[in-house]
Amino acid sequence: TNTLTSISSLALTVIIMNADLTVRRMMEVELRKAIANGDFRLHYQPQVDEFGALVGAEALIRWQHARMGNIPPAQFIPLAEETGLIVPIGNWVLRAACAQLALWQAQPETAHLTLSINVSASQFRQPDFVHTVSEIVTLSGADPRHIKLELTESMFVDNIAATAEKMSALTRIGIVWSLDDFGTGYSSLNVLHRVPLGQVKIDKSFVHDMSSNRTNIVVIEAIMDMARKLGFKVVAEGVETRKQMDLLREAGCHLFQGYFFSPPLEIRAFENYRRSALVSAQPAQA
Ligand code: C2E
Ligand code: MG
Ligand code: MG
Ligand code: MG
Repeated sequence: TNTLTSISSLALTVIIMNADLTVRRMMEVELRKAIANGDFRLHYQPQVDEFGALVGAEALIRWQHARMGNIPPAQFIPLAEETGLIVPIGNWVLRAACAQLALWQAQPETAHLTLSINVSASQFRQPDFVHTVSEIVTLSGADPRHIKLELTESMFVDNIAATAEKMSALTRIGIVWSLDDFGTGYSSLNVLHRVPLGQVKIDKSFVHDMSSNRTNIVVIEAIMDMARKLGFKVVAEGVETRKQMDLLREAGCHLFQGYFFSPPLEIRAFENYRRSALVSAQPAQA
């Protein structure tokens, strides 16, 4: 019976693995179609300063599938990375985001906004990454000094000197590097001071229960201390309550992003948010 059990569990494992492969294969086909059909959109999540004034946005990709509906990035970005499809998708994101930024820069009331764009590890690893980014930025006409590229600590695992050089090539044209999900990886101080980062984004897992969990406040204070010493600005992501905003501000955080201000919005809703935020920032009429 022992043999029987192990055979049947092995058979089951094979069936599950194949089912998984079939689903992945199907998703890959759908992803290719989505690239060809242009089924992606960008949403924009507001970023505010310590006074709550709008300073910019993070561009977040959305996949609207005709039958399956909205597929969140967490469900397709990993597959896109494995299949290499992240390269055309990432280039589409860069073009769409830079086109939007150029539009903002053409209007005096939105000319100050910055735009954060996520870059995945395999995209960054492409030999022509620097060239592709500078070309897309130049063609869009957007001022690169208002572009922030978000990378993750996974890009600091191999050849730190080559990584730093690649990053510097884009820093030289004015682009700012921002370290996403900071605190979830394993970067040592030694690594962080060798790469040209302008800012770090405290991961939302630290922000979430900081008002209840004393340990997380200690972690956040340690991050702030390190950021100050290394000269990075600090952005908090996943801010959902006023209490979190107040604690982060007290800790010295510069920028804030999260549902407390706004979820990611399609462009029209973002424009409305900007206008209503302007109105609410006006002193009450006498
Ligand atoms: P991320 O870059 O860390 O983006 C922040 C995520 O947190 C977004 O999820 C956003 O909607 C969510 N979020 C914002 N505020 C709050 C909050 O207050 N509470 C909570 N619980 N969540 C909040 P989203 O849009 O589902 O994106 C998930 C991840 O997918 C992103 O994490 C990023 O790693 C990746 N991603 C999204 N767009 C792109 C893209 O264009 N390119 C690449 N390479 N990755 C992307
Ligand atoms: Mg991000
Ligand atoms: Mg993040
Ligand atoms: Mg992320």
